[in-house]
Order: sequence, then C-alpha cells, then structure tokens
Amino acid sequence: MTTTPPEAADTGSDDAPASALVTARRQLERAATHVDVDAGVVERLKHPTRVQQVSVPLEREDGSVDVFTGYRAQHDDVRGPYKGGLRFHPEVDAEECTGLSMWMTWKCAVMDIPFGGGKGGVAVDPKQLSEDETERLTRRFAEELRDVVGPTKDVPAPDMGTDAQTMAWFMDAYSMQQGETIPGVVTGKPPVIGGSYGREEAPGRSTAIAAREAVNYYDRDLEDVTVAVQGFGSVGANAARLLEDWGATVVAVSDVNGAIYDPEGLDTHAIPTHEEEPEAVLEQDAPDTLSNEAILELDVDVLIPAAVGNVITADNADAIDADIVVEGANGPTTFAADAILAERDVHVIPDILANAGGVTVSYFEWLQDINRRQWSLERVNEELEEHMLEAWADVRAEVEAKDLTWRDAAYVVALSRIAEAKATRGLWP
Ligand code: GLU
Repeated sequence: MTTTPPEAADTGSDDAPASALVTARRQLERAATHVDVDAGVVERLKHPTRVQQVSVPLEREDGSVDVFTGYRAQHDDVRGPYKGGLRFHPEVDAEECTGLSMWMTWKCAVMDIPFGGGKGGVAVDPKQLSEDETERLTRRFAEELRDVVGPTKDVPAPDMGTDAQTMAWFMDAYSMQQGETIPGVVTGKPPVIGGSYGREEAPGRSTAIAAREAVNYYDRDLEDVTVAVQGFGSVGANAARLLEDWGATVVAVSDVNGAIYDPEGLDTHAIPTHEEEPEAVLEQDAPDTLSNEAILELDVDVLIPAAVGNVITADNADAIDADIVVEGANGPTTFAADAILAERDVHVIPDILANAGGVTVSYFEWLQDINRRQWSLERVNEELEEHMLEAWADVRAEVEAKDLTWRDAAYVVALSRIAEAKATRGLWP
C-alpha cells in the first residue's frame, strides 16, 4: 500500500517538538534563500516521491501474532537510486521517515555520490524481540518492500536498532525471492556476504574527520582540545576512539543511562561500545558521572552528539559551552537551537556532512557488490578520507564565499547539485 505523503504538523511555534520533516523543510527553505534555485524545484523537494506503508505480521515465540507497521520513504532519486537506513524503533512513523529521507538526499548530494534519499523502518522496540523474532520480522519486512527496493531502485542500510545481521537477513530474503544472490540490494552487510570492510566504523570515522578538520580550521591542534561524546554506539564510540588516537583528550562519553567524566581524559578503547556490551558506560571506572543533559553543557572544545535526534533545543542551546558541535547523530539540533548556536558563534558541523561516512562507504560497498570484488580496508579508509576532504573543501568554500554557517553551506552545496540535475533532466510530463 502506498500512502499519501504525510503533511508535517507544523505548530507554528519557533521550536515545535520538531519532527524530522518539519526541521528538514525549514532547513530547505532557509538554504534556498542562499542559492539561485527555481522555486518549482524547491517545492518539489519539499515532498517525497512516495511513502510506502506496509503491515508486518510476526509470529511471536508463544505462537501469538502481532502486526507491526513498516515504512519506506523515498524522497528523491534525481541523482541515483534512493539510499538510506532502516530503523527498528518505537517512534518510527511516516513523517519521521520522510524527514530523514530528505536528509539522505542532501547527504548523498553533499558527498557527491550518485544516490538519492530514502529512509524506512518498523515501529517496534527491538529490545522486546528475541533474535528469531527479529529475523522473522526482517524477512517479512523485506518481502513487503520487495517491489520498491533493489540495487538500481532503492538500497537500504542499517540505522537505529538494525545492524549488519539485519541487512544479511534482508538481503537473503530478497535474493531468495528473486532467485539469485543480489548483494547490492542493501549495504552495511557483513563482509563475508558482500559487505565492505570499514563500513561499520565509517560514520564514526567521518565524524572524527569532520571534527579534526573543524578544529584545524579554527586554528587549533587536536592535541590541545577536549571532546565530549553523547552516545557510545557505533558512531560515538568510533569517533571518540579515533579522536583519542589522533591526540585529542576525550573527557566524557555517555550512553542512555548517563555519562562518565574524567578531566584528564578517558581510555575510550577500554569502554565497551553499545554493540559490545549494551548500557555499560556507567559501570566503567571514572572520577565523575554526569547526566545525559549535563554532558551536552560541559565546557569542552568539541561536543559530539551521537545518540538520538533533537537533543540540542531552544531550551539548552544557550547552555552549550563547546566551541564546535559535530553532529554524529542525524538531526540532534532543532531548527531554533541552530539559530541560537549560530548567534553565539558556536560552529555546528552538520550531520549531512559529519556522519556521511556511513553512506559513502555504503556507496563503496554497492560498487564492490555490482563489480563482484572486495576492496581492502586500507583502500576503503583512504577513499573515505579523500571523499570527506573533497566534501569539506566544497562546503568550506561556501562558508567563506557567502559567510554562511556550516549547515547552510552544506545545504547550498547539496541543493545546487540537486537543482542542476533536476533542471538538466527536466520535469516530465
Ligand atoms: N543510516 C545511515 C545514515 O543515516 C547510512 C545510510 C546508508 O548507508 O545508506 O546515513
């Protein structure tokens, strides 16, 4: 079943409990004021091509049946197949998926990779599912989406609540029905079935690269900076560990239960990631603990929100003490908070640039899949570094030329590329 694209409930308030869609549309409108772009193109980009809604029945361990709702929002494919993650999370809905799919469109365009934007998921709490139930749910969801996904149509990937194993089940279910092994239908798979080395670490690696470039841009040395990281999943943990390896002092990290703090610096390699041991951060030895709100307000040079969306809002933006915020999560800063931070000269490196390593290495994985070959980890990391530096330079050029924030500059880069592609292809019929 295909639903009508959701209408975003914009309450008109400055910092409405902004859904991803409301924020994404406001950001688009704002970016459009900085680019010479046709109003019709902007209007088209406010709406997704389609949002697929499906029912996903699941036989539980006790033999009963529950029916969950799944979605796949496909925002825009003018530059290539829709691309973006699948979430298993209780808050997944059509509006959230649509907003997140818009961010994927910009993210792929900023990185100049030939994909559009998609996002989907199932409204379910994965903690309430056994492993077998997760597998059954994933396989049935893949079957329900079979007509709308495919290596040249729409290529899902892991996101909140899903991982490489989820992608393996999805790929297997899709391939079994198609009658041939089609690794390129999803990315973020385990390397043994066509996944890419370095994919899992990639969003954290690009977040660390963005932090390093931002620190250097503002004439600082990584050796002299302190870092706080909210969230110790794949993005936060890998970013924290790399920044520590590169000389920074990571003074605080957190998970859903709270943060540990050591002004002398934590040994981030000794702290288990969420995947290694869920919710173990507070069990680690450290001189101090903090709440998840307090970690955001620490007096550090670099703050990396790498957990969930909407954590920096109009309510706490004035209290953010970092000089640089690097968005490891998707959408951690609300629209109103963004303006407050800009006013206060806090430099925000946006998600669509900072965590874009994930989708960039997904692109490498897709290339490896369709060419039936595997790149070495060294090659993946080298090419990721190159792509990040190119995207950084493109965005920096707009920051400098138009005196924009990093977010506006990233949107300008993305929107210009998408608008040019739309103008070149034309509107038909
Ligand atoms: N879910 C990731 C993101 O938000 C990666 C998407 C992908 O690799 O397609 O960027």
